[in-house]
Amino acid sequence: MNNIYHSDIYQFNKPVSSYWEANSSDDLNLDKLQKDFNSEIVVIGGGYTGLLCAINLIENYNLDVVLVEAGKVGWGASSRNAGFCCLPPSKMSFKKMQSVYGKEETKKFFKNSVEGANYTKEIIENYNIDCDMTGENNFVVAHHKSKFQQIKEQAEAYKSEFGIETQVYSKEEFNEIGHGGTEQFGAFSYKPGFAINPLKFVNGLAKYALSKKLKIYENSKVDKIEKENGSYHLKTNEGSIKTKKIVVATNGFYQEGLVPELDGRVLPVISNIIVTRPLTNEELSLHNFNTYAPIANSKNLLYYYRKLPDNRILFGTRGDFEGSDQSNLNRANDMEKFLKNIFPKWKNITIEYNWRGLIALSQKLTPSIGKIENEEIYYGFGYSGVGVSAAPWTGKQLSKLVFSSNSKDLDISKIYKGLPKKFIFPKLRVFYFRLAIFFYKIKDKFNI
Ligand SMILES: Cc1cc2nc3c(=O)[nH]c(=O)nc-3n(C[C@H](O)[C@H](O)[C@H](O)COP(=O)(O)OP(=O)(O)OC[C@H]3O[C@@H](n4cnc5c(N)ncnc54)[C@H](O)[C@@H]3O)c2cc1C
Repeated sequence: MNNIYHSDIYQFNKPVSSYWEANSSDDLNLDKLQKDFNSEIVVIGGGYTGLLCAINLIENYNLDVVLVEAGKVGWGASSRNAGFCCLPPSKMSFKKMQSVYGKEETKKFFKNSVEGANYTKEIIENYNIDCDMTGENNFVVAHHKSKFQQIKEQAEAYKSEFGIETQVYSKEEFNEIGHGGTEQFGAFSYKPGFAINPLKFVNGLAKYALSKKLKIYENSKVDKIEKENGSYHLKTNEGSIKTKKIVVATNGFYQEGLVPELDGRVLPVISNIIVTRPLTNEELSLHNFNTYAPIANSKNLLYYYRKLPDNRILFGTRGDFEGSDQSNLNRANDMEKFLKNIFPKWKNITIEYNWRGLIALSQKLTPSIGKIENEEIYYGFGYSGVGVSAAPWTGKQLSKLVFSSNSKDLDISKIYKGLPKKFIFPKLRVFYFRLAIFFYKIKDKFNI
């Protein structure tokens, strides 16, 4: 299959060296697909989207479902993200969204985004998943004094246009409840929002799915899909499944060539994370780092960070353009500098973990949920790095779609519905992305 990044990032059989993985004792050790059989529905991809789609298909419609995952359950972004349950799953500003789709659809999009965050919270509670939930809101921090007005307007618009609970804090106020540092010029909070351990969450989902008798095959990458007499024949290295319906839940790890109609539509983007050693209370107080809530700043190429339950700092941002293990290390070194520029009193704090993964963007800049025309192939992807709230909810919406086979039945904002355009010359996707990043870097340099 043709991948647009270095093969190092697609080593499905290799555990991810994340902080979450290093501190987890959970290993489900599920079977590999090594036989040939039939199933009503096959879900490809064992992250939040695939698991919630399968769980809902079984619980609400009592259907016969099998899930196949190329690595271990959650091997993709779902086990290695930063754990921010935030909004909205889009890289399009709400103003642009209103001008493209109209005020009503934009309102519905935000309503659905909030439903997504609430749904994530609901399943954590209902499935009894212990995933170290912290924080009661999200914060957006003005990284420059010229940005404070902008975030104040954003907070006001969230409240008046979309009914989202927000609160604005001056630099001094946020220094008391949030943090200090060189790039803190005030902030606003919004709800719902909280942080989790993503690996514990995805493992909890998988355990729940197994308790509902979902058959999950790990280390079983679908290499090929053939169509024969109206059925699909999915082939892995050592087995195959014949099925009537397929759900593609591979998000940023989709590999070109699997489904021709999906090729060239996803822009996988690397996101990197570093984690410090645990900080003492004295060290934390040097920058008044008080909150355990998730934080993103106002840069175009944003920084996201949070204090973990054991008082380490997790810090993330856009990754490199290559995807090799070496480029990951180089990026981690750059990120250590970014972190220490904004929190200079932590210059001697060591970094103990670094890793990366793929998020999915598309030309739509919003998620895509739907069914491929004239096929029984369903898809849900493109959360723009905001999948903790959007992906489980998308999985649930997909289950309704799979059951009814008709996207008209789905009562969600049309902004989510349908495929994004294919990129012109898809091989140049990373090049286009580089150009966009160059442009945003300049904007950030001049705080535009
Ligand atoms: C570093 C990083 C930080 C992030 N931080 C946040 C955050 O703080 N908050 C937030 O909301 N979102 C965050 N995200 C995004 C979020 O993790 C994703 O949007 C979400 O996990 C997507 O879930 P998913 O199930 O759709 O896809 P994934 O979890 O990526 O799962 C897709 C799965 O499909 C499998 N697969 C691919 N091809 C095949 C095949 N041919 N056969 C079988 N299996 C296949 C893969 O192995 C993979 O496990 C982050 C992502 C990254 C990479």
